[in-house]
Amino acid sequence: MAVYVPPANWILVDGAVAIDATNGRLVSQSMALLDHLGADADLLILTHPHDDHAVGFWHLVSRYPHAAIGIAELDLPPVDRLSGGPEIDPASDDNEAITQPVAQALTEIKAALREAPKRRWQIRRSDIRQVGDATVRVLHPTDAAINWAHREHARQRRQSPETPEYRLPRPWANKISAACIVEWVTPHGEARLLLGADVTKQDWRAMSVVFPHLGKHHVLKFPHHGSIGACHNSFGHGTRERTWVVTPYTPSRLPRSDQRGGLEWMRARVDSIYVTAGAPSPSTTQTRLRGFQVQEDAAPAATDEPSPHQRNWIAASISLSGAVEIQLGTGAYHVVQPA
Ligand SMILES: [Zn+2]
Repeated sequence: MAVYVPPANWILVDGAVAIDATNGRLVSQSMALLDHLGADADLLILTHPHDDHAVGFWHLVSRYPHAAIGIAELDLPPVDRLSGGPEIDPASDDNEAITQPVAQALTEIKAALREAPKRRWQIRRSDIRQVGDATVRVLHPTDAAINWAHREHARQRRQSPETPEYRLPRPWANKISAACIVEWVTPHGEARLLLGADVTKQDWRAMSVVFPHLGKHHVLKFPHHGSIGACHNSFGHGTRERTWVVTPYTPSRLPRSDQRGGLEWMRARVDSIYVTAGAPSPSTTQTRLRGFQVQEDAAPAATDEPSPHQRNWIAASISLSGAVEIQLGTGAYHVVQPA
């Protein structure tokens, strides 16, 4: 995800890659956007050590050598298991890298930090960082969450000494997920963007005690791919005018519209739900979103899409009046609520 903040600054969150079908190579969507605009990045955040977030992050680390690197913890083991993810061309140079994307990202980050230790931003609750006119405030994780993750991993390791690292249970890594709120002042008040990372319900409850107004935001990157286990009233309470963006995760069939899914919960609270990409096939998308209408943008924005990797984007802009305007790239869609 790429976040623009005034006057001319960018925060890039996680790898956000696509596969360029013409050559099978990984392409960072964020980097493609910044290239298109001739812009530089100020802050890179790797929210947590899961493959779906880390893949391609190494491109950002080397491409933006002056950007700070925000990461909660460098010394936990990578949680790599890229199943059901993008199709990789076996002939591609990047094939080696993508089998262990978190390990690759951590290696690259550590090398960059050895060169330039000042790039490091150790993300911890209540830390604040200024990027342009915006304040990035860390909601999660706490030191306690990091310590818990270390203990939990050690316990799994002891219980299953023979199991390869990548087959150990994954959820503990969500516990150290970096959730932030990005705020800046406009002539009409404050613009607020809530980045939910993969933080789940238990931690939202604790966060809302320290940060009581989480529901007051213009745009939310919905936590944990819209899973029901991430839905919490701490950020759910608020006006229906807010815009929520969901990033799907195919191996867990997220987001879902059934009782085990978060979409029902979302539509009870806001009018605007956007999903950055469909399922691998249109019929799977329809099944996954049963009971909802899906509206792809019939007339895509007047933007050239010169290569296939520039699909599945959503641009949400908070205007001076506080209204949110949305543009959809091919492949992204608006979840329309049935009448
Ligand atoms: Zn995830």
